Amino acid sequence: MTIPSVRGMKDVLPPESARWAALEAAYLAYAARYGFREIRTPILERTELFARAVGESTDIVEKEMYSFSDRSGDNLTMRPEGTAPVVRALLAHRAEIGDWPARLCYTGPMFRHERPQKGRLRQFHQFGAELFGTDSPYADAEVLAFLSGFLAEAGLAEISLEINSLGDPACRPRYHKALSEFLASREGRLCDDCRRRRIQNPLRVLDCKSEGCIKATEGAPSILDSLCDDCRLHFGSVEKALSAAGIRFSRNPRMVRGLDYYRRTTFEFVIPGMGAQNTVAAGGRYDGLAEMLGGKERIPAIGFAIGVERLLMLLGEGESGGGSAGVFLVTSNPRFMDEAFRWKMELIGKGVRAEMDYEGRSVKAQFRRADRSGARAVVVFGESEDARGAVVFRDMAAGSQEEISRDEAMRRLIRLTKEE
Ligand SMILES: [Zn+2]
Ligand SMILES: [Zn+2]
Repeated sequence: MTIPSVRGMKDVLPPESARWAALEAAYLAYAARYGFREIRTPILERTELFARAVGESTDIVEKEMYSFSDRSGDNLTMRPEGTAPVVRALLAHRAEIGDWPARLCYTGPMFRHERPQKGRLRQFHQFGAELFGTDSPYADAEVLAFLSGFLAEAGLAEISLEINSLGDPACRPRYHKALSEFLASREGRLCDDCRRRRIQNPLRVLDCKSEGCIKATEGAPSILDSLCDDCRLHFGSVEKALSAAGIRFSRNPRMVRGLDYYRRTTFEFVIPGMGAQNTVAAGGRYDGLAEMLGGKERIPAIGFAIGVERLLMLLGEGESGGGSAGVFLVTSNPRFMDEAFRWKMELIGKGVRAEMDYEGRSVKAQFRRADRSGARAVVVFGESEDARGAVVFRDMAAGSQEEISRDEAMRRLIRLTKEE
């Protein structure tokens, strides 16, 4: 009996893994252009971090976290999202991270115990970024420009940006009340979860995917009509800065984020016409989170996360990349293996990808393997050539081959791969 993998957790195999690595490198390089530096936080955090930051009444904390107590009895959780850990790290290492604004980005796995029938993974991956220390509308526009620029450069052409403002503690309670009253009149049509949410967190009802709740909330009051002057001004300035940056967007007043810590600007990048699974990246402003996590000062902040699996799926197959150039060393007799192995080690030492057969397969079988490996050149160690201190050098792309001296062959192999 072989051991199956954990449900909802997937192996990333070559050549797919090369696409992952390339996309991740492209993301970090793009982030660096905007001054974002990478932070790597642990996968395990104390459960209270997410209970406090994400919110007790969210689906994530109520139903989806991988939580357990470890051998010392500490309550730990495998991170379900990236922002709370970054804020925790920021508060712990404020001085080392440097002056405001601080720009941090990350890549890595997240864990949520979601229902598998949705086709969602329980270990999924995100690229994220967080900008701390300014509530300037330019910061919101910068983060959106960064995200939109990266997605475009990655090759995602057809995306649209939807934005909203969730207000702040000064004006959101008023909207809560208005929405809650509206929902009270339609209580019978809401799902069980939403009946409970109507009191605790009515905004989440707008986010519910159940058919009845979507119908019941048609005609709900718009949060954009309840914003206080400060929030309205801020939202207007974000829109102005986006227009100045040439970024197209539309308002979506029904957009709420699943997490309680968001304030003011929220946004989603969506693929038009893709239904419920259409969000590629999302985020928002979370000015109150640092204080919720015990920080002494209010730290304005805005950030986003990109779903890596979704992005890769949308980008399609594309180049597999990753080590297609190289050399295959064919031995016509096992007595040449020592020599071929020395060549292989020397070539690898000089930065050339080199392969050979260790099993004494036929020359024909070795050539088949060389073909499949995508090698650009094959060197054959043969009996008659060996007597003359030579090898057969085959250029796979040109389909030509000739006998040359061993020194010349080695020089050509190194030159060949330097051309890449
Ligand atoms: Zn519902
Ligand atoms: Zn407000």
